[in-house]
Amino acid sequence: MYIELKSVSATNKGAKAFLRSANKKMLLDNEWVDAAKGGCIDSTDPATGKVLTSFPKGSAVDVDAAVSSARATFESGIWRTMLPAERAKILWKIGDLIDANIDELAELETLDQGKPLGVGRWAEIPGAAEQFRYFAGLCTKLESSVIPSSIGYQPAGKRIHSYTLKEPIGVVAAITPWNSPLILNAMKLAPALCVGCSVILKPAEDTSLTAIRLGELCIEAGLPAGVLNIVTGYGHEVGQALAEHNGVDKISFTGSTQTGRKILAAAKGNLKRVTLELGGKSPMIVMDDADLELAIPGVANAIFFNSGQVCVAGTRLYVHSTIADQFYDGLADIAKGISLGHGLDQDTQMGPLVNAVQAEKVDGYIKGGVAAGATLIAGGGQGGPAGTFIEPTILANCNNSMSVVRDEVFGPVLSCINFDSRDDALALANDSDYGLAASVWTENLSHAHCLAADLQVGTVWINSHLMFDPSLPIGGYKQSGWGRESGLSAVENYLETKTVCAVL
Ligand code: NAD
Repeated sequence: MYIELKSVSATNKGAKAFLRSANKKMLLDNEWVDAAKGGCIDSTDPATGKVLTSFPKGSAVDVDAAVSSARATFESGIWRTMLPAERAKILWKIGDLIDANIDELAELETLDQGKPLGVGRWAEIPGAAEQFRYFAGLCTKLESSVIPSSIGYQPAGKRIHSYTLKEPIGVVAAITPWNSPLILNAMKLAPALCVGCSVILKPAEDTSLTAIRLGELCIEAGLPAGVLNIVTGYGHEVGQALAEHNGVDKISFTGSTQTGRKILAAAKGNLKRVTLELGGKSPMIVMDDADLELAIPGVANAIFFNSGQVCVAGTRLYVHSTIADQFYDGLADIAKGISLGHGLDQDTQMGPLVNAVQAEKVDGYIKGGVAAGATLIAGGGQGGPAGTFIEPTILANCNNSMSVVRDEVFGPVLSCINFDSRDDALALANDSDYGLAASVWTENLSHAHCLAADLQVGTVWINSHLMFDPSLPIGGYKQSGWGRESGLSAVENYLETKTVCAVL
């Protein structure tokens, strides 16, 4: 596949200045520093393969320093005992500073990750700001309970007074992936900071730039020294060292199920708390009474948004056989009309994948699906200057035993299967190791709500897919993870509950 990329570059003053300035550093105890052992990792533009800048290749030595800083700050109480209303102001200000620098952050995210500028500018960067504002609002609402216990053996004439205290868990390591960097970082930092934890952020090695810029904005907002440390570097070094470290109380991880298993194994030393936001293979069920005007573009967006690099992307389509041909024709027309290009090019609707390794992996799944009997009805090509572009691809005549249907592909590849009854669709949709999200497309309330109840997933969308809000919990059943992010309960990921039982 041949793609001619228009020549584009950053236009935002802030983004240009950020890229022009010296190689990036990481944040340790409020200082921007190089890696203790030296060494850098190049940050490259996935569309072109060109080097943008570089950042420190951290190691276990830097992790030790970050843990010491985070621990000392936590023990000092400067953040966890700050008046909740004061913590709230700082979190709110971080949200406002993200908004104030939105064009810069969107350009940096596009250059570093490849996504079309609009995805960052209108969805992910404002979404990150909203995470900070949502949890700013919660700082003053972290309540505990007084519990009417029934203990009958207290000394005569005495009373029992029982209550809980919610306490920050301590030092949190947040480890994040490359597909939507800033917002995924915000989804961990905002609730952890809300409750008073100290955090060490380890962004993905492919996309560390906006994490570094976010660190600068957190300092500008007034976050006390050492509350946030950022250690950049590779997962098997920095991530692994954090997961193993006995000074870390909690790992909040988003990434692949495979890495999630490694984190669990590494975390067992001090039995640190772990939450896992992992992979997905989200089904979409289209019933024969669906509104096709809504469903066809909705399904296309669910799989092709961000080049399919979304944990909850709609990757498996189960469509009623009576409307299947019409549905495939509509989907193929959309897929063939999507313009691929550099994310900074205004005409681009779909950018590259994050790197050539990922594109090769996705290409392998497409070829494997065709070899196993699937019919390619759109796309299938790979190309671009760095080999990172994959065409929007649709495979019909799939079945649930194919690898392209079972595995998380993490690219713009839709696998399609026909069904004849609602029960068959449900059984096919639930036949997966993953359970992150699903969507149901129907005008029939009974279909909609019965399927929503019976699908084994953490989120069900009805007549939509990819609807997010800081108030809506997100997370997975089965091998898609442990715990939920966003929503009121997300703060529980970063809290311990202490029970106090007093004889008075
Ligand atoms: P990944 O698991 O390869 O890497 C994620 C992070 O873990 C990176 O920062 C990486 O450096 C680090 N890491 C790698 N090896 C490690 C180790 N041994 N110990 C500790 N840390 C290590 O995932 P990815 O390829 O960057 O991202 C894509 C994956 O993320 C997909 O599976 C996707 O579904 C998942 N994801 C899930 C959600 C969700 O909310 N459930 C959201 C976005 C992405």
